[in-house]
Amino acid sequence: MSEREETIELLADAVRRFAREELIPAEPIVEETEEIPAPIVKQIKELGLFGMTVPEEYGGLGLSMYEEVRLVFEVTYASLVFRAYFGTTNGVGTLGIINEGTEEQRRRYLPRIATGELMASFCLTEPDSGSDAASLTTKAVREGDGYVISGTKRFITNAVHAGLFTVFARTAPKDAGSAGISAFLVDSDTPGIFIAPPYRKMGFHGSHESDVIFENCRVPASALLGGREGGGFKSAMKSLDHARLHMAAVATGTCFRMIDEGSRYALERRQFGRPIADFQLIQAMLADSQAEAYAARAMVEKAAMDKDRGVNVTMESACCKYFATEAAGRIADRMLQIHGGSGYIKEYPIERLYRDVRLLRLFEGTSQIQQIIIARELLKQQRARA
Ligand SMILES: Cc1cc2nc3c(=O)[nH]c(=O)nc-3n(C[C@H](O)[C@H](O)[C@H](O)COP(=O)(O)OP(=O)(O)OC[C@H]3O[C@@H](n4cnc5c(N)ncnc54)[C@H](O)[C@@H]3O)c2cc1C
Repeated sequence: MSEREETIELLADAVRRFAREELIPAEPIVEETEEIPAPIVKQIKELGLFGMTVPEEYGGLGLSMYEEVRLVFEVTYASLVFRAYFGTTNGVGTLGIINEGTEEQRRRYLPRIATGELMASFCLTEPDSGSDAASLTTKAVREGDGYVISGTKRFITNAVHAGLFTVFARTAPKDAGSAGISAFLVDSDTPGIFIAPPYRKMGFHGSHESDVIFENCRVPASALLGGREGGGFKSAMKSLDHARLHMAAVATGTCFRMIDEGSRYALERRQFGRPIADFQLIQAMLADSQAEAYAARAMVEKAAMDKDRGVNVTMESACCKYFATEAAGRIADRMLQIHGGSGYIKEYPIERLYRDVRLLRLFEGTSQIQQIIIARELLKQQRARA
């Protein structure tokens, strides 16, 4: 094992213990109060989890995709809300700066992002533009030495915590299509930004999503990501490729947690004079779930390794996100079924996990959008071979 591999193993082990010993016991409190306790936030920072994707030269861990998914598997064994707290900062909120930012933008933001001092949010979705992200209407109009941004962004994770927004806005008329979209790095204390109170949701209690309204919000020209207009949509899509693989790892981690909850209950609960785990119909639900979770993990690891080798994984990351999040839904349903009526009672974690995993099939591209991407890429390859 190389020194690097040993370090990652040690880190994965520390995150595994953190998830089991600190995060899981805190789950009921987070569900109840809708807040992550401050000592846990402190530990997340100390473990360096805010800086997973930030290159080492800017103070982050500089993890490869494979290393990142390894840690994500571990941390998402606990409630997904903990990962969501540092997820936007690590993922879509920061990847644009890492991939497309100017050196000045990287130096300005990445070191503070890596320590968790500065949290980042990704502002793409709008009231009338969700899956069809290229139809967004938020505009950024050039005025003097800067831009004036106006528009509404919807469901923005961690907006209430963020110090930085990556905002996608139109710098050219709508008929320019996605080429008319640019990305801006906007400090959250810029005048003209209004953050609505967080939405009340079915699950993911403790993660905060709000509308963010930009009203004549003036930013300097230096806020333009990468210093050029028109690269925004491409940047968003590039971030989403990475983010989808990350999200597939999230789904995988929670699959294994739910299987543990279900199998533990099956061994404890007795009916007809024996543990329900003895019944083959219960075993079938466990077996199908284990096979799917194992497949999800194998897919994610393979795609992550390919991405690290520089292979284009647009189709594979969509396959992973689609399969792993749909599997999480099926597994949640089966594991709740194994709990019988108790599964419907809040005392058991599966009730909450069932609600939480429902989100995974909706955000960062719905399952239908993943299917569209997979088919598009597959047909592209087929045409190229013809
Ligand atoms: C809790 C939460 C957190 C979020 N965090 C963020 C965030 O931080 N930043 C951000 O920018 N966004 C965020 N989002 C937004 C999220 O990414 C969108 O909700 C998602 O992309 C879907 O868009 P929509 O809700 O507008 O649904 P729509 O696009 O309106 O889709 C509705 C339905 O139509 C289907 N559909 C749409 N187009 C097609 C098609 N061509 N073919 C077949 N079916 C189709 C969809 O699959 C879906 O089933 C978040 C959402 C939630 C709920």
